[in-house]
Amino acid sequence: MLSKNDILDELRAPDSHALRGRADAARREHCGEGVFLRGIVEFSNCCARSCRYCGLRRENRRLKRYRMSPAEIRQAASTLLRWGLRTVILQSGDDAHYTTAMLCDIIRDIKTDAPGAAITLSIGERPLEDYEAFREAGADRYLLKHETVNATLYDRIHPGQSHAVRMSIIERLRELGYQVGVGFLVGLPGQTAEDLAGEILFLQDFQPDMAGIGPFLPQADTPFADQQAGERETVLRLLALARIASPGTHLPATTALATLDPSEGFAAGLRFGCNVIMVNGTPDSYRASYRLYDKRVCADLESARRAIRLAGRTASLERGDSLRLQPAE
Ligand code: SAH
Repeated sequence: MLSKNDILDELRAPDSHALRGRADAARREHCGEGVFLRGIVEFSNCCARSCRYCGLRRENRRLKRYRMSPAEIRQAASTLLRWGLRTVILQSGDDAHYTTAMLCDIIRDIKTDAPGAAITLSIGERPLEDYEAFREAGADRYLLKHETVNATLYDRIHPGQSHAVRMSIIERLRELGYQVGVGFLVGLPGQTAEDLAGEILFLQDFQPDMAGIGPFLPQADTPFADQQAGERETVLRLLALARIASPGTHLPATTALATLDPSEGFAAGLRFGCNVIMVNGTPDSYRASYRLYDKRVCADLESARRAIRLAGRTASLERGDSLRLQPAE
């Protein structure tokens, strides 16, 4: 068990060499050498929310908005499946244009196309009944980053939303039998080292199936345009601490980390405890408009495989279900 002081000590230590070694050992023991490749389709950049850091926020009039049709979404998913990937992540802004029925149809169609594939939804906050309907339609996993455990900070940077609601949805997703992904931003304006320690304590307590951890990155058309990005070294230390605190959690080397360090970000993440890379399957014509932050670096199959080789690991096309669901040996 890590204490708050243990975590703060690691965040302040002169170097992260020993920490990286411990995280790497935990990763090897719990996840092995394989890096799961997952495919993501960002099917709509329309969003009803006002998150102060995010380029998709509804107040951003400078973003060219798009919505993929159900046929386009199925097509993009089937391309990922043809590449051999067995997890399709469907992500979007919080976009009510896609009704419960539309989304359930899309989920069922992808499952019919590939019964052995897993579907992850990452479509934000919806009426609670929806999560049940999506689960019944065949969705396996849900990624809803809590963004920050600091409720005051959360409420300040998410006008109109509430930390309490976000956390209660995350609990509900777990009750419904989803494999649940959470996650947080590193280096948010106003975030302290104590807050970051709180993130690791939360992961230690919740033991999520997945956690997305990456730097905050400024986007020019948001209120946070002029703020500093999160630091690479801090993100890496937090990934390592996450691996140690919650060893059976899938940790992607995130696109945001790769954007901070385009040449080595993915490989560095893998060396600091990560075991997943998400390959982008959003059609080229839309991809640049999914502008959560500027100069986004996405992985394609080739760059993902290159990073995995660079880190001395092997790519895996297994489904990569929750390590919590694996029977103990
Ligand atoms: N609407 C969905 C999906 C959000 S987009 C939802 O609310 O869950 C996916 C993730 O992008 C968010 O969870 C957030 O953590 C991340 N993101 C958005 N803007 C960002 C920024 N400026 N820097 C880093 N990550 C950002």
